[in-house]
Amino acid sequence: MRMSTLFVRTLREDPSDAEVPSHRLLLRAGYIRRAAPGIYTWLPLGLKVLRKVEGIIREEMDAIGAQEVSFPALLPREPYEATNRWTEYGDGIFRLKDRKGADYLLGPTHEEMFTLLVKDMYGSYKDLPLSLYQVQTKYRDEARPRAGLLRGREFIMKDSYSFDVDDAGLEVSYQKHRDAYVRIFDRLGFDYVIVKATAGAMGGSKSEEFLANAAVGEDTYVRCTACDYAANVEAVQVPAPAAVSYDDAPAAHVEDTPGTPTIDSLVDHLNSAFPRADRPWAAGDTLKNVLVVLKHPDGTREPLAIGLPGDREVDQKRLEGQLEPIEVEAMDEAEFRKHPSLVKGYIGPGALGEEGTSAIRYLLDPRVSEGTRWVTGADEPGRHVVDLVAGRDFTADGTIEAADVRDGDACPNCDGGTLESARGIEMGHVFQLGRKYAESLDLKVLDENGKLVTVTMGSYGVGVSRAVAAIAEDTLDEIGLCWPREIAPADVHVVAAGKDAAVFEAAEQLVAGLVAAGVDVVFDDRAGKISPGVKFKDAELIGVPTIVTVGRGVVDGLIEVKDRRTGEKQELALDGAVEALLGLVRG
Ligand code: ATP
Ligand code: MG
Repeated sequence: MRMSTLFVRTLREDPSDAEVPSHRLLLRAGYIRRAAPGIYTWLPLGLKVLRKVEGIIREEMDAIGAQEVSFPALLPREPYEATNRWTEYGDGIFRLKDRKGADYLLGPTHEEMFTLLVKDMYGSYKDLPLSLYQVQTKYRDEARPRAGLLRGREFIMKDSYSFDVDDAGLEVSYQKHRDAYVRIFDRLGFDYVIVKATAGAMGGSKSEEFLANAAVGEDTYVRCTACDYAANVEAVQVPAPAAVSYDDAPAAHVEDTPGTPTIDSLVDHLNSAFPRADRPWAAGDTLKNVLVVLKHPDGTREPLAIGLPGDREVDQKRLEGQLEPIEVEAMDEAEFRKHPSLVKGYIGPGALGEEGTSAIRYLLDPRVSEGTRWVTGADEPGRHVVDLVAGRDFTADGTIEAADVRDGDACPNCDGGTLESARGIEMGHVFQLGRKYAESLDLKVLDENGKLVTVTMGSYGVGVSRAVAAIAEDTLDEIGLCWPREIAPADVHVVAAGKDAAVFEAAEQLVAGLVAAGVDVVFDDRAGKISPGVKFKDAELIGVPTIVTVGRGVVDGLIEVKDRRTGEKQELALDGAVEALLGLVRG
C-alpha cells in the first residue's frame, strides 16, 4: 500500500457528526465513510482490518467443526411469519415488496433460514450434531443508530447455529461455541467480560454475552468487587436470605397512620408515633406493593402485584426480562377501580394473592423471605399493619426478580463481595434457543428408536463490524488509532522522510525486501510538498503497530523504528533491517 496511490484521505479535523472516539478516528484515518445514517462504506484500510477480524473468527469456528455457508440477505416473509417474528420485530426490520407484491425482508438474523435449511437436508439423529455458520451482512432499522460501526443499520455479523437431538448435546455444542468465543476475543486482544444474560428463573434458557469493557458502551452490567461474577442487570438473581425465626415476634397489629400514602410519609409517621428503641424506622422496614398489568402476547391483560422492600423500586427492564414475551404496564386508574378491595397507598398482602380479597396474583422480592417482619398497608385508608411476618401472617404466589439492582448490593455468588455497575459493548452472544424455532418450523429427526423428535438448537453471534470499532475504541490514544498486531491493516508503516533521492532509494529497497519476506507494508512514498511532519502524523493516525522512518540517517546506514503504542524509538542498521523487522513483527 503506497500512500501516493492508496485510496485514502486523512482528515485533520474531527468530523462533526461523530460522537465517540473510535468513530471519529476511523473516519479521520480513512477506514470508513458514511453512506447514510448507520450505513458505512469500507475503504481499503478498513477492509484490511475487517478481513483480519473475519479471518480469526473463521479459524476458530472451523476449529470447532462448524461449517461455513452463506445465506442471502433478502428473505421471504413466510418463515418469519411462522415464528411470529415478522410481527414481533415491528419497526426493527427493513421490509420490502417485489414487483408481484410479495413481502420480503432484509435479514436481521437468520434462525428461521438455518432451521429450514437443515430440515430440508437432514432427517436422522445420525446427521447430528451439526453446527453451521456464516459471516454475513445483517439489516436492522435501529431506533438509534450510533457511534458509527458500533450500532449500524447495516452491519456484519458472524452467526452460527447448532442442531442437536437432545439437551445434553446442546450443552456440548454451547460449550464448544463459548470456548471458541473465548479464543476469538482473546486473539482480538481487547478487554472483555462474560456476563450472564438471562436469569432462567421463569424457565429462560441459558445465555451469556461477551461485553467489551468500554465507557461508551450501551450495556450496563454488574460485577462483583471480590469474585469473578458478572451479569446483565436483568439477569441478577438476588440471594434469598435464610429463614429467620419469628418466635419472639409480637402478633401483627393494625395501627392508625393517617395521611401516610407514601413510604416517606409512613416512615416519618412511624418515627414520631411509634419510635423504635434500637434505631429509627427506615424505608427498608416497610413492604411496598406495586401493581402492574401484564400484556400477554395473545392480547389478554392480567393484573400482577409485586411486594418489595420500601427502599427499592421496581425495575421495568428486570421485570420484563423475567416475563418475556409478556409486556408490562403500570396499572392505570380505570384498571385500579376494577378492584374495589385495593386501597391506594395502603395496599397490603391481605388484598393480594390467591387467597387475598382481590385475588390478584402476588409475587414477592426474594428479600421478603420467611420470618422477615414488615410494616405494610392494612387495606384501609390511613392504616398500616406492623410486625407482619412473612410466612406466618402472609404468603404470596411466588417470588420475582423485579427490584432494582444497586451498587453495594451483596454478590449472589460469593460471601462478602458487593456489586458495582460497569458499562460495556455487546460483542458476542451465545444462546441456548432450545426447541422454539424447531417447533415453529417443524424441524424433526428420527431418533435411535425410529421416533420423530424435535431438534434442539443454539444460536451464537459475533458483531464483526462492531468488533472493528470496539477494538479501535479499546486501543486508540490521543494521536490516533493504535491496532493490536493481529488485526492491524499492515505490519509496518515505512515513512520516507526527506527530499534526497538517496532516502527514497533506501526506502524503496527496504520495502521491497519486507514485501518479499511476506511483511505487509504501508509505504509513505509521497514526494513533493508533503512534509515529514505530515507523514508522521498520518502514520500515527492510521495506527500500524511499527513505524519505520527512513530519513537523513541513511547516510550513516541507519533507520529509526518506533513502536506506535509505547512511542519507544530505536535505531537500526539499514543492513539486515529486513531480518530485524521480520523478527519484530513476527514476535
Ligand atoms: P444489541 O443489544 O447491542 O442491540 P442484540 O442483542 O440485538 O445487540 P444479537 O441479536 O445478539 O444483538 O446479535 C449478535 C451480535 O451482533 C451482537 O452481540 C452484536 O455484537 C452484533 N450487533 C447487533 N446489533 C448490531 C448493530 N446494530 N450494529 C452492529 N453490530 C450489531
Ligand atoms: Mg444479544
